[in-house]
Amino acid sequence: MKGLITALQRMSIHDGPGIRTVVFMKGCNMRCKWCHNPETWIREPQLQYIKEKCIHCLSCLHVCPGRVIEEGDGSMMIDREKCTSCGLCSQVCCSGALSMVGREVSPEQLWVEIEQDLPYFGESGGGVTISGGEPLMQAGFVKEFLLICKRNGLHTAIETNASFPWKIIEELIPYTDLWVCDFKLSDDKKHREWTGIGNVVILNNLKKLAGRGAALCVRTPVIPGVNDNEDEIKAICSLLQPVRDKLTYTLLGFHTLGFGKYESLGMDNVLKDKEPLSAERLEELKKITWINC
Ligand code: SF4
Ligand code: SF4
Repeated sequence: MKGLITALQRMSIHDGPGIRTVVFMKGCNMRCKWCHNPETWIREPQLQYIKEKCIHCLSCLHVCPGRVIEEGDGSMMIDREKCTSCGLCSQVCCSGALSMVGREVSPEQLWVEIEQDLPYFGESGGGVTISGGEPLMQAGFVKEFLLICKRNGLHTAIETNASFPWKIIEELIPYTDLWVCDFKLSDDKKHREWTGIGNVVILNNLKKLAGRGAALCVRTPVIPGVNDNEDEIKAICSLLQPVRDKLTYTLLGFHTLGFGKYESLGMDNVLKDKEPLSAERLEELKKITWINC
């Protein structure tokens, strides 16, 4: 069994307890307009072009079998509609401007890469966090990998949008020490408008996870002009109220750190002109309700 991942992020301190290694899975069923990991959306390898690294040697142009690369004004132009993601251009690009995002690994191969971080996990109480993208799109692979982690005594966490059938989530409970789930908007229609899918299944799954006694951290990313108002945060808290004693809840401030990736992947970013949420506004919103972490 193989899984498709985009990257490993080592020494993370924001994705669960202690020092962690985060595994980013490739493929997501949501299309949150504020996403800062758009390279994880499509469940197949993708060509990335960082124009600032390009030295205009034109090697890529000559190897592309479909001739879909042209020299543009100051950067190379890739016809994304016709690019087959064969990766040949990235193999001849010595500056690193072109690269393929996404590689296949088996659970065992991934474990060999994770194993070298064991000294950090042990001392800090950390472990492995599976993120993405959406890990549950590759639930079989994730289960096999978490099984190896648990056999080796590691703390495990999954960051998921929890929008999948309960059966898929339930199967992973024995191997998952912490569930980290976003709940983004209280209104189903608005949730669909901003993320591509509704929130009814998500809310039900969060309640079921809490009911099963799973360690659960729910977060709301606060996006200016979307959900950065008192009424919306109160409405979300009200929906989570029945299980508030069984989860931790917090807000995350919107930032634009990953926005350069959209251009490098040839993708549109509808929020490209949006300013980050200020730290002051985030703290104001945190004070209005029962946020507990
Ligand atoms: S990935 Fe292949 S098809 Fe796409 S631009 Fe590069 S060489 Fe051409
Ligand atoms: S091979 Fe790389 S450095 Fe050379 S022109 Fe193409 S993208 Fe630029």
